[in-house]
Amino acid sequence: METSSQSDLSIASLATLDALDNAIKKDKNRYIRKGYGLLVAIFIALSTYLTVPHIMFFIHSYLDGMQKIQIFLLVQLCSTNLSYVLGNIYMYIIYSLKLPFFERYKVDNNPWPWEQNLKQWTQTKKKVLLNWILNSIISSLLTIASVYAGQNFRHDSSSIPSHFELAWQIAFCMIVEDTSFYWLHRTLHNPRFYYIHKKHHEFYNTISVAAEYQHPIEFVLTSTATALGPLILGANMHVYTLGFWYIVRVFETIDGHCGYEFSWSPYRLLPFSGSSEYHHYHHSHNIGNFSSFFYYWDTLCGTNKEYFNFKKARTNEMQLNLMRRVFNESQQKSKTT
Ligand SMILES: [Zn+2]
Ligand SMILES: [Zn+2]
Repeated sequence: METSSQSDLSIASLATLDALDNAIKKDKNRYIRKGYGLLVAIFIALSTYLTVPHIMFFIHSYLDGMQKIQIFLLVQLCSTNLSYVLGNIYMYIIYSLKLPFFERYKVDNNPWPWEQNLKQWTQTKKKVLLNWILNSIISSLLTIASVYAGQNFRHDSSSIPSHFELAWQIAFCMIVEDTSFYWLHRTLHNPRFYYIHKKHHEFYNTISVAAEYQHPIEFVLTSTATALGPLILGANMHVYTLGFWYIVRVFETIDGHCGYEFSWSPYRLLPFSGSSEYHHYHHSHNIGNFSSFFYYWDTLCGTNKEYFNFKKARTNEMQLNLMRRVFNESQQKSKTT
């Protein structure tokens, strides 16, 4: 005879299967809706994947002969900081141009912070810059400490990664990072720890510079989540793969905070991928949506239910408004004729 705990378990399993089934359907629709953006995203992802090992050989021709600690520091400093700066320059151009082509991808109708209050935005920019400098220093110190602690990534030219190695190691790092980030982020939303995380939530509407705006303690914790996959791989990973992984992660967080849901984002090719709209909801409503690369942890733990209900209600409202407009227009036409 089935006990009550067994039936509770089977109900929970059925609910999880149902949630996964819904997630698969949503994902299928997500790919279809992208249109030509999907082809551009595939082109960006494929061309990056095919050229990266060749770029690694090119970079190594300049770094060959350097000491291990110098290579580690250079790779870490350049991959994290250059990608953050370049990503923000790219977004600055898009924010400044305000072209209708880009604006149709904006995730909400709110004006940007510099349009709301220019004086306050000047102060915010200074705070973001100082925070970034402080966190960059911390990150460099962590790299130096990890080398002295015996961190053992490969750094020779004979073992520059193949395409296959690059693909599985980046996929592994994404899964490890997403899992550790989900639980860390969720813990930081616990009232006891929220004082650490509330700095990042000073941005109610996401913009690209908010991506790395965080309390130094949170920065150390999230950096550990990012470094966890590489730390597990150790000597199986090349230091250039580590550098590429940092670039992938930094661009992902800029993409998630930029305030636009670009159809050509290569990150949206990932199955069960989070999105800019997804993370924007986390900032604007401060409810659920804790993950980074993927959303399956949120779905499995039921922490994105409010978001999908909100999206459904908004779609229904938009459809209702459209029907009202069409009805009013037809009424006016019939009056005039
Ligand atoms: Zn948060
Ligand atoms: Zn955020």
